[in-house]
Amino acid sequence: MFIVWGKSIKRRKLGFAADYCGVCHDLRTFKVNRIGSASHLYYISFGQGDLVGYERICGVCSTPVEAKPDRYSDLSKTTRPATDLISETFPNYYTVYREVLERDRKVRDTPSLLTPEERRARMREPFLLIAPLAQQKLSSIQVDWRVVAALFSFLPIFSALGAIASWLKGPGEDPSPNYIFAGLALWAGLLIWQVVLSSRRYLLKNAVPPLAASLAPLKPSESEINRILADLKQAKLKLSKLRASDLLDRIEQMRTTV
Ligand SMILES: [Zn+2]
Repeated sequence: MFIVWGKSIKRRKLGFAADYCGVCHDLRTFKVNRIGSASHLYYISFGQGDLVGYERICGVCSTPVEAKPDRYSDLSKTTRPATDLISETFPNYYTVYREVLERDRKVRDTPSLLTPEERRARMREPFLLIAPLAQQKLSSIQVDWRVVAALFSFLPIFSALGAIASWLKGPGEDPSPNYIFAGLALWAGLLIWQVVLSSRRYLLKNAVPPLAASLAPLKPSESEINRILADLKQAKLKLSKLRASDLLDRIEQMRTTV
């Protein structure tokens, strides 16, 4: 009998609460989860596991952050608009976030009045919140349709090369077996290339839209974004694979479609 023991993360939904999202920079409805580390036997976990912590996931941008459940007076069983949930779940919201909300008002109404430190901190905030999720997602291969297509590309590659080999062969000869090696090299190259690109595609699809929405009111310059990306790179964070132009293009796109 083969028994697998190990530690695994187990999430349990506790409910919904209104809270502040540092990526959306607004009041949002969050799903609150308890995170436990459960022992596994045949990959079936027992109980809730030892408590690791709590997380809350924004209902709009899906960014998970650490939660402090003792802040909430109650949790709602069902998800509702944040403005409806605030009195039931987080009545102290405006007191707890007074400074943050004042800063956001300044960003919105008079961004030129932000001190350089405030501007820098506000700009870095969404990157630091999104970085852990991107790190976790990109630590494994993101299998999207292009990776799957590359995986199955051996069929057209081998049939095309096989046809070329039979076309090139002299009369009465067998087709050169080299086409098999050429096909394998091409197939592996294509697959590796698509796997490498898949992390960037993940970031463009999942990280760029919330980051761009978060940065847009600040009208960031390319060098400001590059400075943040350089810091992320130094910290060996995979979010640093983004380019400043990815974010600036998206911000420009948002501006022209509004
Ligand atoms: Zn959010």
